[in-house]
Amino acid sequence: MPKAALSRISRFASLGLNSASRARFFCAGLIILGVLFVSPHPLGSAAADSTPKGALATRSHRAAPDSSSSDLMGSAFRRDRNGWIYLHLEGTPDQVGYQHGYLAAPEIREVIRVFGEYLPHTTKHDWQFYRQAAHSMFWDKIGDEYQREIAGIARGADARLKGDAGKNHNGRRAAKIDADDVLALNAWIELAQYYVPSLQARLGDPELHQSPPPSCSAFIATGSWTRDGKIVIGHNNWIDYLIGRHWNLMIDLKPAAGHRILMDAFPGFIHSGDDFYVTDAGLMATETTITQFKGFDPAGLPEFYRIRKAIQYSDSIDDWLKVMTEHPNGGYANDWLIGDRKTGEIARLENGIKNNIVERTKDGYYVGSNFPVNDKTIREETSFDPGNANNSANARHRRWDQLMNEHRGRIDIVSARRFEADHYDVVRKRQSGSGNTLCGHVEVESPGLPEWDWGKFYPGGTVNAKVTDASMAEKMSLWASVGHPCGAYFSARQFLARHPEYAWIRKISGDMQGGPWTQFSITLADETARAARSHRQAASR
Ligand SMILES: [Zn+2]
Repeated sequence: MPKAALSRISRFASLGLNSASRARFFCAGLIILGVLFVSPHPLGSAAADSTPKGALATRSHRAAPDSSSSDLMGSAFRRDRNGWIYLHLEGTPDQVGYQHGYLAAPEIREVIRVFGEYLPHTTKHDWQFYRQAAHSMFWDKIGDEYQREIAGIARGADARLKGDAGKNHNGRRAAKIDADDVLALNAWIELAQYYVPSLQARLGDPELHQSPPPSCSAFIATGSWTRDGKIVIGHNNWIDYLIGRHWNLMIDLKPAAGHRILMDAFPGFIHSGDDFYVTDAGLMATETTITQFKGFDPAGLPEFYRIRKAIQYSDSIDDWLKVMTEHPNGGYANDWLIGDRKTGEIARLENGIKNNIVERTKDGYYVGSNFPVNDKTIREETSFDPGNANNSANARHRRWDQLMNEHRGRIDIVSARRFEADHYDVVRKRQSGSGNTLCGHVEVESPGLPEWDWGKFYPGGTVNAKVTDASMAEKMSLWASVGHPCGAYFSARQFLARHPEYAWIRKISGDMQGGPWTQFSITLADETARAARSHRQAASR
C-alpha cells in the first residue's frame, strides 16, 4: 500500500474521531459511546471466533483482495466494534454480494459449520437437504437481482477463503461455499421451522414435530405516546444462543437501485432476518414471530425475498404492504411493525397465509412478543392459546402494555433501550430475567418454553437489541447491543457444566457478550467509503 494513500486514509479515519463528530454522538442519557471507524485500513476482516470477554476494542485486519476483485470491492469496508461487524456495501447486485461475502467470509464459513451440526440434531435433516430444498423451492422465485447478490456472496467468500484463511485444521482447502449454501442460509428459518414441520405433518410423524421459533420483543409508538410526538421503535431478537451469538452484522447497504438500508443481519443474509430496518425512504420496520403458526405453501413467495424487496423498493407503508402481502408462503409468519417518519404513521401487519390483517394509526402504539393478534388468524392459522395468561408471549404482552401506559408521552430512545433490557416478570411478580421477561433468559427456566419446544433450561433468549427514533432514522442511525441488552454475559462453559444434557451443543456453542449499546450511523461510513475508494484507486495505479 503506498504510504501517501495510507496517510490520507488515516487522516480520514481520524476525522471520524474528532470532537465535533463525538459531540454529535452524545444523545441524552447515553450509556456507553460506541465510536465507529477508527481503523486506518479500509479493508478489514476478523477471525470467526468470538470477542474475548471484556475485549471490546475495534479490530481490523489487513486482507487486501487480489487486483481482479478491486472493481467488485468498490468502496466497501468492514469495521468491528463492540461485538458488531459493520459492513458498508455499495453498488450493483454483483458488487454488494461479493463485498459481503469477501468481508464476512470467516463468519459465513463458521455459521455453515454450525448449521451442519445444529440442523441434523434439531430437524433430522442435513445441510445438503437444506441446500436442495432451498434451490428447488426458492431460487427461481427470487429474481435476477437477488440471485446475483447471493451468487456474489458465495463468490466473494470463496475468493477470500482461497488463501490461508480457507484452510481447515488439516491444512487442506476448506470446502467451497456456493450459491446454494448462501440461499439455504437465507432460507433456513423458513425451511427448518415451517417447511420441515409441514413435511412431517404430511407424513404423520409426531416425533419430529417442531414449532416455529420464538423471536423477539418489539414495539413501535407515535403521536401522544412519545416525547417528541414522532416515531420510536425498538426490538430484541430471541433465538438459540449458539445461533444468535453470530447475529452481529450491521449492514449499511447502498444498492444501485432502490433505497439505502441500515439493518442488523446474520452472516450471508440479504435480509435482516430477525428483523430491524431503517431506510432512506423514511421507513423503520421490525417484527415478532407468530407463536405456533401452522401451514406452509411451497408455491408461495419466501419471506426473506418479500421483506428484502419491500424494504428496498418502498416509498411508503402502502408500497411495503403490497409486496409483503403478495402470495406469502407462510414461512416465518410474523406480526410486522412498521413506521414512516415522513408521516408519523405506524402500522401492524399480521402476515399469515390466509389472513393478512393491517392496523394503522398516527397516535398510538403496537407491541410484539410473539402473540398472534387477531381472532381469525388465531383460529385458522395457529394452535396458540390466547387464554393462557402465563405463557411467555402473553406475559410479555402484558408487560409491554404496562410499560407503554406508564411512559405515555415520555417514550424516547432512552426508554426504548430500557424497555428492551427489561427484566420484570409479570407472572412471578419479580425483577429477574426469565422466559417471561422482555429481555429473555430461557436458560434459567426449569420448565423451558413448551410453546416453542424449548426444553428445560434451554440455552436461548435475547441475542441482540436495536432501537431508533424518527430523528435518528432521518440520519440513518440507530443504537444496537449484541447479546443481552441488560449486559448479562453468557458463558457456554459454565452453562454446560451445569447442564450436561446439552452436551450436543459443545462443538458449536460459545460465549456471548452482553452489550454495550453502540451507535451506528452512515455519516461516518460515507467518509470512510470515500477513503476506501481513493485508497483502492491509488493502490491500483
Ligand atoms: Zn437480560
